[in-house]
Amino acid sequence: MPYQLIELNTPATENLLCPHCQHAVIDWAEEQYIQPCEHTLFVAMDLGFEYASDVFEQTMPRSVDEIHAHDDQLDMWQELTSSRYPQYLIYKTDLGVQGLSRYVGFTAA
Ligand SMILES: [Zn+2]
Repeated sequence: MPYQLIELNTPATENLLCPHCQHAVIDWAEEQYIQPCEHTLFVAMDLGFEYASDVFEQTMPRSVDEIHAHDDQLDMWQELTSSRYPQYLIYKTDLGVQGLSRYVGFTAA
């Protein structure tokens, strides 16, 4: 497996920090709360992408636009883990509604 899953028990209402540079990639103090750093590969929910880096998108079998165009049959976990990106971390948090999750991808180093 090229990815490592890290399940966070912290509520989805808390900021999420990059494990490498401690930048708040999800920063609820900002109006635009997605604040990717150079280590951020993607920010996604089961419902769709909030952010995808160009580098990561190029390693996915389908583009973000294609995925969103067929979001009635979206399996976000499947999309994120079929990437050819060599080594990455997936931080998973519970959104607290309808069993939905948010996934934040970081480079492994
Ligand atoms: Zn970072």
